[in-house]
Amino acid sequence: MSELQVNTEEKTEYKIEIRNVSFDYVQSKSKYEALREIDLNVKAGEFICILGASGCGKSTLLSLLSGLNRPKSGEILVDGKKIKGPGTDRAVVFQQYSLFPWLTVKGNVLFGIKQSGKKLGRKERNALAEKYVESVGLSAAKGRYPSQLSGGMKQRVAVARALALESDVLLLDEPFGAIDPKLRLELQELVSKLCTEHKKTVVFITHDVDEAILLADRIVVMEPGRIKSIHKVSMPHPRVREELVGTTEYEKLHRQLIMAFYDQVAERIDAGVAL
Ligand code: ADP
Ligand code: MG
Repeated sequence: MSELQVNTEEKTEYKIEIRNVSFDYVQSKSKYEALREIDLNVKAGEFICILGASGCGKSTLLSLLSGLNRPKSGEILVDGKKIKGPGTDRAVVFQQYSLFPWLTVKGNVLFGIKQSGKKLGRKERNALAEKYVESVGLSAAKGRYPSQLSGGMKQRVAVARALALESDVLLLDEPFGAIDPKLRLELQELVSKLCTEHKKTVVFITHDVDEAILLADRIVVMEPGRIKSIHKVSMPHPRVREELVGTTEYEKLHRQLIMAFYDQVAERIDAGVAL
């Protein structure tokens, strides 16, 4: 823990404030404490990666940020206002491509635009949908249905649909977990570019150390139920993996993260916990 970089930033206006948040899953006779006293502040335009082994509460935290679940105690604020449920100020991308199978690529993106509640005419909506379909490189496939797309293409549509909501905050839960490594790299670079362009405040969940270093301004390492450490990544964006590997900052950070992350994996293997 000696290399731990605690969040020492000055007090400013935060886009997202997670204050002393705890959450339990309650079943008929049992209670499981999934998150315990989580504190995290995210600045506007910041890209946060939450890194942690399976089961440590990453998706639970995202469900609280999205408003699908409510904290047992504590509170989450966006723009200084306590969140009370899902809202158009936060767009979400899940690991499983949650596209509407009966809508085309463009139809799915149009759905995001309609959800935003903006008063737009049909022509304007169409133009915006075309713009976001193009931004993820899918113009040629805009008339196809999800069943006619590869996994990588589906996830591009999910990203375009989330961007089309034009919310300040973007929440992504292991969006590229099911994508093969080469495509994954392309998608990581695309998301990094688009989030910078659109000045998004991002919370991106991953269990991939390299993905976190490529994308994040800060990496939050979780252990079961709590934050273990926070690591700042100061390398400038956009980052190109080949240029990062071998640099002193990359190697140092990689070592810190591997220690913080895999230590707990090793502990869990020793304890016989399924990963
Ligand atoms: P992660 O996303 O880091 O893999 P989750 O947030 O999905 O972790 O889960 C955290 C813990 O809460 C796990 O131990 C998981 O088994 C438990 N959990 C998740 N969802 C439920 C649920 N609906 N009911 C009971 N326990 C749950
Ligand atoms: Mg999860």
